Amino acid sequence: MPAHPTYFTWPDGGLRYDCRECGACCRGLGIGLESHHHTPTQILDAYPDAALFLRLRGNTWTMANPRAGCWFLDPELRCRIESEHGRDHKPGACKLFPFNRVFRCGEQRVVDYNPVICPLEVVNAHGVSHSSVLADLDAISDPSLTQSLPTTLPTDFLQREHHLSLRLFAQAQRLLTSPDPSSIPLDDVLAQAHRAFAVTTSDGRPPRLAAEAIACLFPTPPPPPSPRTLVSALTACPSLRFNEAFGQDPVLHGAHMALRWPQLWPLWLNALALGEKMAARHLTLQDVTTLWTETKALWWWLAAWEEPFLWQGGESPDVGAFTPLHQQAQAIAQAIKAAAGNRPLGAILSAHLPAHFAQRVAVLRLLEPLLPRLRPAPASAPWLKAPGRGAKKRPLGRRS
Ligand code: SF4
Ligand code: SF4
Repeated sequence: MPAHPTYFTWPDGGLRYDCRECGACCRGLGIGLESHHHTPTQILDAYPDAALFLRLRGNTWTMANPRAGCWFLDPELRCRIESEHGRDHKPGACKLFPFNRVFRCGEQRVVDYNPVICPLEVVNAHGVSHSSVLADLDAISDPSLTQSLPTTLPTDFLQREHHLSLRLFAQAQRLLTSPDPSSIPLDDVLAQAHRAFAVTTSDGRPPRLAAEAIACLFPTPPPPPSPRTLVSALTACPSLRFNEAFGQDPVLHGAHMALRWPQLWPLWLNALALGEKMAARHLTLQDVTTLWTETKALWWWLAAWEEPFLWQGGESPDVGAFTPLHQQAQAIAQAIKAAAGNRPLGAILSAHLPAHFAQRVAVLRLLEPLLPRLRPAPASAPWLKAPGRGAKKRPLGRRS
């Protein structure tokens, strides 16, 4: 029985993983090996020559691998350890993959997944169950699989994320299980999601997304993405939020992520709608996750449009002066630094950004090194109110 409640960032049974033996997950630079017996004897007993490639990363034994593929990947892109010795002999992280992102935050455990490497499918039933992942985790019992997270966020942060995830998964299920998803009003699905994200700032108002900010990158906002793409987006949100809150990204981390999300989400949806139009197909979980990672810095500029901000120390990062666009970005960087504490970002950006759409995007991209230097001014500093306060608290995830 697990000692701690677990928050899973995907719906129970809601992700299917039919391994296509594409080998993508076996082409890193190394594999993590069990550390609970001090040295990873299980694999080395079976493959003694592999000992030559052992290396220690912190407290964890890993094995260096050729970039082109793991030592144990056979020509048919199957794992030789599994075919020769059975699944239980595989390294723990490989056995759990793609549900192998395991974290501990205080008393809580979080299990996340990897949708970027592995093409997971969102389904309404019969996907990977939380209980099966818990059973694998309990059988592996390898402490090096679990990363510790900082506990600086409010103690009920993950509890709130869990409740939020259930509300989003319910909307995704509503679209997935309908015999005619086009008959479901997307406005209502989006309104429900927006309510789940609801937060208020220190002045008691919800964070606002300025019309001028939206027009900066979406002069003609597209209609919402298709129901199938929306299912991918709703399902991906809890994992994306978790990674933003606890990741290394200095811009969106922590509680700041929750405050920004109601502004970032509609911008990301616009990008998904345009991506879907360009690809002429629905976007998968892998697509929406990749699009989030690749575009989120752009949404940050727009979300912070109306805010005064402070400059966090040091010189403005050197954008370079290689092209006229670099020179423009450098001038904006200096204007932003000079205006810190006095003017909202949007006032500076709208005065200086190029009129040409592609150039505007390029300049915002060139300005990304500035983002870690900017913080909301104290007057606009967020104070997050717990959404759903007063709601009955439930334990996180399942206990077996
Ligand atoms: S990435 Fe996913 S589909 Fe590809 S081999 Fe790994 S587990 Fe199978
Ligand atoms: S040990 Fe097997 S599953 Fe793990 S990376 Fe190597 S080939 Fe892939």
